[in-house]
Amino acid sequence: RATRGGEEVRAYVPSMGQIFLRRFQMVTQFRQAIEEGQVSVHYQPKVSLPSKQVLGVEALVRWQHPEFGRLDPDEFVPAVEAAGLVGVLTGFVLKEALIRVRKWMDEGLRMSVAVNLSVRCLADEDFPAKVTKALQEFEVPPELLTFELTESGVMADPQKALPILRELHTLGIVLAVDDFGTGYSSLAYLRQLPVDEVKIDKSFVLGMGTDLGDLAVVRSIVELGHSLGLTVVAEGVEEDIARDQLEAMGCDVAQGYLISRPLAEDRLDAWLQARTA
Ligand code: C2E
Ligand code: CA
Ligand code: CA
Ligand code: CA
Repeated sequence: RATRGGEEVRAYVPSMGQIFLRRFQMVTQFRQAIEEGQVSVHYQPKVSLPSKQVLGVEALVRWQHPEFGRLDPDEFVPAVEAAGLVGVLTGFVLKEALIRVRKWMDEGLRMSVAVNLSVRCLADEDFPAKVTKALQEFEVPPELLTFELTESGVMADPQKALPILRELHTLGIVLAVDDFGTGYSSLAYLRQLPVDEVKIDKSFVLGMGTDLGDLAVVRSIVELGHSLGLTVVAEGVEEDIARDQLEAMGCDVAQGYLISRPLAEDRLDAWLQARTA
């Protein structure tokens, strides 16, 4: 108990028991939360740096919990993964994302959607078959779907993950390495992965305006990516200066609050309309 000016100040610090209970509730309620519409997908636009054209969106999951309020994925995705429910999560997000792309196609728009994959999806041998089925169901061509995976995720069990990645790639799905520059970042290893795109981790992009080290990392990832024939995406673009520097370096795609925050579906439609108007 801290006192300030004689007044008692008690900060609310949840106990271990409360944290555990909250996690327990999150995982036991997850399926039902999806059925009840508490879980939704927000979309963040990705734009071409040279042309400023909107190329597609990244799907980011949200959970409006009746008791805990809005939960961000960093809080519940790890719990959902640990409980073995990642297939339920990915299945839901993938379906929503493909419905979204289908709607655009029906309006004559060609935009892609990127879905984040947990490592655990790459341990499921039936995953490529499930994805194929979903693409067929919504009549979406595979090249309009991107999967984003972290390198540490693939590194966790390359024996299992690599054949599944190759299968997804053979199907024509675009594969991206997320959060690049953090974790292992073995360059030799990047060459062996069947990937098309590399996403520079936002920590470097956020820091590049003030930190020469971050700037150097960003520059070398752009060069490395291009020398391997990959599309280079910068996430966490918040400032005009960062966007201009990235464009000058030849970075291909930008994503970040400067362009747009992740938006609920109706707000995304309004955003797209305002942009093309
Ligand atoms: P991520 O894949 O690296 O996603 C990018 C995160 O950066 C998102 O956080 C996004 O809202 C945030 N962001 C975007 N632009 C900016 C910016 O300009 N500045 C800053 N400071 N942040 C920006 P979010 O939505 O909270 O997601 C966090 C992480 O949760 C994601 O990181 C991803 O790893 C995971 N995640 C989200 N949706 C899913 C999903 O459907 N499945 C799985 N397996 N993981 C997901
Ligand atoms: Ca991502
Ligand atoms: Ca990322
Ligand atoms: Ca991340």
